Amino acid sequence: MKVLILGGTTEASALARDLAGDARIDATLSYAGRTRAPAPVPIPTRSGGFGGVQGLVHHLRARAIDALVDATHPFAARMSRHAAEAAIIAGVPLLAIVRPPWQRQPGDCWTDVPDIAAAAAALGPVPRRVFLTVGQQELAPFADAPWHDYLIRSVEPVTRLPLRAKCITARGPFAEDGERRLLRAARIERLVTKNSGGSATAAKLAAARALGIPVIMVSRPPAEAVLSVPDAAGALAWLRHRAADRGE
Ligand code: NAP
Repeated sequence: MKVLILGGTTEASALARDLAGDARIDATLSYAGRTRAPAPVPIPTRSGGFGGVQGLVHHLRARAIDALVDATHPFAARMSRHAAEAAIIAGVPLLAIVRPPWQRQPGDCWTDVPDIAAAAAALGPVPRRVFLTVGQQELAPFADAPWHDYLIRSVEPVTRLPLRAKCITARGPFAEDGERRLLRAARIERLVTKNSGGSATAAKLAAARALGIPVIMVSRPPAEAVLSVPDAAGALAWLRHRAADRGE
């Protein structure tokens, strides 16, 4: 059974590792190509956009893909929309891995905002020391609030910095004590994050809670109305079930 996994997340890589060595399933992991050195996976990979919905339909047909798994990031809304449309047009079964969002816990002080521009506005007129962990594609709106003192953390070095800021690079998973040390050392007063969910980057929220630091939480774009599971294990079960149904 030929499977295309739309990746870029820890769940996609976990599914790729789970599928390696399964003789019934021939899976390829697709990257957008944003990360220069993605962590290696034990299945074939491809990189770069498909060229919109029609490009993805063509790819699914040309490679006779039997099942599509959308394991992109919860904020990668365009790719998920394209996957939903292309799957219908090409008649390929689609499953999405939708990581549950983080939920407020007692002691949290979160301000929910609908998008990044609203997050920049929510920092307010008083200059603050702000920890920005929104991804390097999303920094531009903060240039409109240049009176804050920004510390930016990204997986890869920021290539186009649209504002004055201190930058650090680090790849999760992060531990709470390290996050607490970082927030204290930089005397952070506000944390800005997208509600990505998952355990790899949740420690910053626990550290903010412990230190009483308010969090500006960017809500997710609406998910596509497609069949979904919360994790790689659910996707593995779905794929194995389909492979068994085909008698493979
Ligand atoms: P996006 O806005 O939804 O996608 C933009 C375009 O990038 C898509 O239309 C598609 O181009 C291409 N693309 C995205 N994911 C792809 C994939 N897995 N394989 C091939 N092409 C892909 O998504 P994005 O925000 O640019 O995110 C890009 C990648 O980074 C995704 O894999 C996502 O999982 C990962 N990521 C995103 C975030 C985030 O916050 N957005 C955070 C962490 C990781 P075509 O239309 O030409 O096919």
